[in-house]
Amino acid sequence: MIQQTLVLIKPDGLKKSLTGNILTRLSETKLDIVAARIVQVSRKLAEEHYIALKDKPFFEDLIKYIMGEYHKKKVMALVYWGDDAIEKVRKICGATNPEEADSISIRGAYGRITTKGVYENAIHASANMADAEREIKLWFGPDEIIEDIYPTKTVKTACEKRVWEKGA
Ligand code: UDP
Ligand code: MG
Repeated sequence: MIQQTLVLIKPDGLKKSLTGNILTRLSETKLDIVAARIVQVSRKLAEEHYIALKDKPFFEDLIKYIMGEYHKKKVMALVYWGDDAIEKVRKICGATNPEEADSISIRGAYGRITTKGVYENAIHASANMADAEREIKLWFGPDEIIEDIYPTKTVKTACEKRVWEKGA
């Protein structure tokens, strides 16, 4: 089944210069990258992304982690697209707990548990189709994705936007 899934290279992955290694591992899936951007994560985006975990004792540390308070204030967000994308990417990522993750998985190879108990596991991947849709729509607008993966509509807006001061 053709699916799409959200991947985040988390701030620890960027701080440790693991971007290339992680993208190389993900290329084993032969899936297509249909969107990519570097994001400075706001508290609002962080809290919306992890809304299902808001009652967990580690929630506040998790929000700080994904906002980059412990590493670099950036995340690389990508959408992978293709046959069974969700399961293929989750498999290469490995288990949530980096100590339980297969040692050749991304999380097994690069993750750690902090003294505060947060799993710094270098990568996020959507867990199922409903999560993927919710998460992709949170991190990307339709014009930032090169496949038409979800229905869209066109609306008129009249908002200011920043443009280059000089240029063609
Ligand atoms: N997490 C954590 N401690 C836990 C469970 C989760 O620090 O006991 C963090 C970890 O970074 C994980 C994220 O919260 O990737 C989201 O948790 P989830 O249960 O959704 O796991 P995932 O879908 O990322 O495997
Ligand atoms: Mg999850």
